[in-house]
Amino acid sequence: MPSRRRHHYPTFDSPDAERTHMKQRMAAAFRLFDRFGFNEGVAGHVTGRDPEDPELFWVNPFGLSFGLVCASDLIAVDRNGTVVQGDWPLNQAAFAIHSQVHEARPDVKAAAHTHSPHGRAFSTLGRPLLPITQDSCAFYGDHAVFDDFTGVVNDVEEGKRIAHALGGGKAAILRNHGLLTVGQTVDEAAWWYITMERSCHVQLMAEAAGEPVLIDDEYAALTCKQVGSPFAGWFSFQPLYDKIVAEQPDLLD
Ligand SMILES: [Zn+2]
Repeated sequence: MPSRRRHHYPTFDSPDAERTHMKQRMAAAFRLFDRFGFNEGVAGHVTGRDPEDPELFWVNPFGLSFGLVCASDLIAVDRNGTVVQGDWPLNQAAFAIHSQVHEARPDVKAAAHTHSPHGRAFSTLGRPLLPITQDSCAFYGDHAVFDDFTGVVNDVEEGKRIAHALGGGKAAILRNHGLLTVGQTVDEAAWWYITMERSCHVQLMAEAAGEPVLIDDEYAALTCKQVGSPFAGWFSFQPLYDKIVAEQPDLLD
């Protein structure tokens, strides 16, 4: 029998090992987000909850290009917004949104938000994604629209309202702003972000061309179970991770 390589959902011997793994996955997510054109100046953030101290989360430095992020560049922030590890400044919007999402959702280990173009364009419509493709069914009944834009999110009170709108779902469309996704792993949150951005693109194209046919509720719900589970999200990220690490191994540093 030929040997078969497969990906295994990770388990860890120590918080240190888990933290290193998480930071490397975050760095890979930033390099991929850069490749996919999700960056817009200094906007956008991915956070990961510290495996030892649930009140700390790791985030990208404010002002560092997604395309240059290495694992060692990530900064750790406490519940007051104080940078407790790392030399870079913190994006206040990252703290305002992500601190409240992590606070409201103990199951969420990672969250991603950027101003990617198709998610941003779709967000201006103020409505949810439709179940028009197998892929978009990952979000069927599992995402929300935050229908209230009041400027840059610098206030934790607005972060609270975003977390409230997100509810128990895997994603939120922030009207006139962009997308937000969450997951039990960095891999999962990053994959939901990538596929949600593409689903927004696909729906925009389909609606520009005509009137897309909706998948029946029964099959949309079934497909969501098939492609929308935390494991499916984690697994979908693995080939992207392997490729970006092969091409840009410095991200692991
Ligand atoms: Zn934003």
